[in-house]
Amino acid sequence: MYIYWIYIKPALVKKVITKVKKMEQKFGNCKIIKFKPCEQVPEQLENFAEEFFEVVELNYTDDGNEQLVGYMRADADVSAMEADAAAMNVELPEYTVELLRGRDWLKENVIKFAPVEAGDFYVYGIHETAPDTHGKIGIKVYAATAFGSEHQTTKCCLLGISEIKAAGCRAQKVLDVGTGSGILSLAAAKLWPQAAIVAVDIDDESVNVTAQNAIDNAVAAQITALYSDGYSAPKVRENAPYDIILANILARPLIAMAPEMASHLKIGGYAVISGFIEDQAEWVIGEHEKHGLALQKIYEDGQWRAALLKRVK
Ligand code: SAH
Repeated sequence: MYIYWIYIKPALVKKVITKVKKMEQKFGNCKIIKFKPCEQVPEQLENFAEEFFEVVELNYTDDGNEQLVGYMRADADVSAMEADAAAMNVELPEYTVELLRGRDWLKENVIKFAPVEAGDFYVYGIHETAPDTHGKIGIKVYAATAFGSEHQTTKCCLLGISEIKAAGCRAQKVLDVGTGSGILSLAAAKLWPQAAIVAVDIDDESVNVTAQNAIDNAVAAQITALYSDGYSAPKVRENAPYDIILANILARPLIAMAPEMASHLKIGGYAVISGFIEDQAEWVIGEHEKHGLALQKIYEDGQWRAALLKRVK
């Protein structure tokens, strides 16, 4: 039995909520199909799921695996899924089927969104009006961490960002690779009001959500949200070098991007990397050290790890 750290792209959360609300109105309940987690969901299977299901989630399990979850109408038949998959030559992994009552789904996953405190920050859902931020810097997001447990990898990053501030860094330029809801960019904008932040994602909806969250948090003037696969967008490259680079992705993409992270960072600049588990920490950090990024501190939350790095050469 896995304990899931359920992460859904924040942009997707919004989509899922809207779609499930619609499904709820139309059909009352829905069926949820949970496929067996694996290291990487095959593209073919992901494409099939996008086609077949009303809503698709890609979750990460506590041990760093990926899990595909599909939502379908309660009256739709699982044998139709089997038949469609066979027709498309897609091999379905093992799966479980649960019936989900729409109202419970919304209540449990969205409304109960608990605020998260980490480092200098207090992150809360957009549905809360004027919460007590306990003397911390408030960050308002669209239920970005709404699914199940808290968002451990993000929390670790917020600790890292707070630590960079405490170290006396006066950031002017910040890059957030894989911005999601933009939460790390919002945090940086609030800690360094003079900083210009570039927030990128390969998911268009994330880019839009980040821009909207920047407006909602009154830091739109500081944050430029745009589409970029890693460091590939011209704006990302032209704007280098950065004082701070934040990347909460996963072990493999982090490693693939390590040389570019180093080359886009100022000497003496800081990076926060996150999204890997205990067993991967040595590997991920070691690959960054090869490029002159020295380990300053490791943060942990459950199985998850994040690292604060400094470019030393
Ligand atoms: N920074 C946010 C979200 C992290 S989730 C937080 O800390 O909470 C990871 C995000 O990285 C997702 O939104 C995903 O779309 C994005 N991503 C994955 N691969 C990427 C790549 N190669 N380039 C840019 N973004 C990427």
